[in-house]
Amino acid sequence: MHRTKHRLCPLCEASCGLLVTVSPSGSLAAVDPNPADLLSAGHSCAKGLGLAAIDNDPDRLRTPLIKRNGRFEPAGWDEAFDEIARRLPPLLAEDRNAVAIYTGNPASFNLDHQLYQGTLLVSLGTRNVYSPSMLDTMPKHYTLAALFGTGMSFPVPDIDRTRLLVILGSNPLVSNGSTMSAPGMAGRLRALQERGGRFVVVDPAATRTARAADLHIPILPGADACFLLGTLSVIVRENLVDLGRAADFVDGLDTIRELAKRYPPEVVAPVCGVDEHTITTLARDIATSEAAAVHGRIGTCTQEFGTLASWLVDVLNIVTGNLDREGGVMFTLPPAGGPTTWPASRKGWPHGRWKSRVRGHPEMVGEFPAACLAEEIDTEGPGRIRALITVAGNPARSVPNSARLEKALGTLDFMISVDAYLNETTRHADVLLPPPRLATRGQMGLTTNLYSVRNVARYSAPVTEHGPHEMPEWQTILRLAAIARGESTRPIGELDHEAAVSAARRAAKLTGRDVDQVLAAVEPRTGPERLLDMRVRSGPYGDRFGQVPGGLTLADLEAAPDGIDFGPLRPRLPEVLRTPNGRIQLAPEELVADLARLDEGLTRRRTGLVLINRRQVRTLNSWLHNALPQPDAGHYALFVNPRDAAARSLSDGDLARVRTNAGEVTVEVRTTTEVREGVVSLPHGWGHDGGSLGVPAAEAVPGANVNLLVDDVFLEPLTGTAVLNGFPVEVEPA
Ligand code: SF4
Repeated sequence: MHRTKHRLCPLCEASCGLLVTVSPSGSLAAVDPNPADLLSAGHSCAKGLGLAAIDNDPDRLRTPLIKRNGRFEPAGWDEAFDEIARRLPPLLAEDRNAVAIYTGNPASFNLDHQLYQGTLLVSLGTRNVYSPSMLDTMPKHYTLAALFGTGMSFPVPDIDRTRLLVILGSNPLVSNGSTMSAPGMAGRLRALQERGGRFVVVDPAATRTARAADLHIPILPGADACFLLGTLSVIVRENLVDLGRAADFVDGLDTIRELAKRYPPEVVAPVCGVDEHTITTLARDIATSEAAAVHGRIGTCTQEFGTLASWLVDVLNIVTGNLDREGGVMFTLPPAGGPTTWPASRKGWPHGRWKSRVRGHPEMVGEFPAACLAEEIDTEGPGRIRALITVAGNPARSVPNSARLEKALGTLDFMISVDAYLNETTRHADVLLPPPRLATRGQMGLTTNLYSVRNVARYSAPVTEHGPHEMPEWQTILRLAAIARGESTRPIGELDHEAAVSAARRAAKLTGRDVDQVLAAVEPRTGPERLLDMRVRSGPYGDRFGQVPGGLTLADLEAAPDGIDFGPLRPRLPEVLRTPNGRIQLAPEELVADLARLDEGLTRRRTGLVLINRRQVRTLNSWLHNALPQPDAGHYALFVNPRDAAARSLSDGDLARVRTNAGEVTVEVRTTTEVREGVVSLPHGWGHDGGSLGVPAAEAVPGANVNLLVDDVFLEPLTGTAVLNGFPVEVEPA
């Protein structure tokens, strides 16, 4: 008999509630939105509704693979781990930094990774840690840490109560929101307009969100920091500064007043490609609105001045009194706790403790820029990376100058990939370990709950058992960790207990209980659910292991699969602050100093075309292209403004050659006014042409890999984030 079960979508930050139909064999037969879900209320997108297609994709790997004589052969799990135990420890014994790890974006939505990855990292003991956060998010983390004390202190637009929402570098009607978990964005934006509010989109492209907005400001790529400085200057000049609830907790306002004066609209307007009147009017609107929220996301991070832009978004919210105000930007109180509920870390925001070997780039929270990975492999000398573990990541399509990385991957002495597909990256692996189907995992948004637009706690239990050949991913991670520590023969139960004791120590410290009391309280659970129960019970609504009668437990969430509502966002100043003096640092020295670089950029005049990225509804980076067919060939085309196309004798459907210093691609052209003159756009994650792949449906699609064009040398200097938007390109008929 078929059964219907609740399932939180594990694919993106919106974390929609779904209802899945499970067949008697345990496979997913159908997926529908869950109208009763307390956060998503019946919203879902094509990706979530495609969960069955993703889990049932016949090209997904179902058993481990070991490469022998250059060919992959199916293997048993013990055989695969034996091979790893034979080859990994000698490399670690020689030099722990010779083994690198790259963890991809899907791991951010995977409880197994979130709860066990730390054990693997500690066991490896390598400084060569890489992830997409240095490709798309680090400017945000960096500035949040500087202002509020932790890189995860996200002020979230209170979208359901705001009167004016200003969105920069984000296309939430397509992406469904980022660092703002707000499923059902279309409905929320419509409701904003229906209650008399407005939303404004500042974006070089007339994206779907921009087209639905009350006002679209088509800024030039890379000019967001200048634009924000222009608005600040109006607010200062017209005495519109009002810190509101933040007034008693802000340091550095005088510095902001002074520096803002240097960037009046008449100075920044030509750089932004936006007229002075528009900048001035928007500044006044934000400052005088009953409640306004300014939100910047991926487009503001992945540009030359991305860290400045991320900082100025928060400064603008603060000086207009919109921080911690209903309808402004507020801090979520996450049900499983997090950096904004835990005591301040003695380490603060760790960065710059060590440097990368080749170009000497400082680490950021234990990571190096992903753009450094290739050079750390292909540059000879002591400390060279000789082995790599990839987890749910495809750096051969996701990092700048990916041709160089792809070549470097082929030179490694040993490579392990935990991945569902044989793709452009994992084809270089020596051992491939497939994760189980998504339906076998429990789901709670430990990260997305840090920036949810409402305080709602939701958990969905696994909807089906593991098949006979499936290994739970947390067990794969623990077994890799044990091998790295030279303990490959220890039973999984023992390894899990060890992880539980370590988590219990932390939970005990947070709640004033003994470790034994914590462990006893979560019995007889094992695995991720045991660790998760500890997180929930030691969280802000938790029962603190029996000390708070009626407090939240994982069992409560299991009994309420539509979620438990803790209400709209509430003011959290000043308890949310984790800076050393407990105050908001509005003008951190290193950010103020970086304005000198921007000043130099103000005098630069660009000619020719620049390229920007674009989001797509049915894709997430590179990994869904095999399971979810793309309905529209234009998905992967180069968008060119008709005037720019005519100037280059290009028409719709032509092939164009796009060239930069880093490389070139040939791609189909689509002429459209969606991009302004001087700007072309290409989506990320395409170009499945690496050969020897196990993704035939994806390979059949002729998209190009945009990262062949992206420079791996020119990075945003404060954070090492790749400049994926606003770089010059040459376009000509192919
Ligand atoms: S919006 Fe995101 S969370 Fe919601 S169904 Fe789509 S992919 Fe899943």
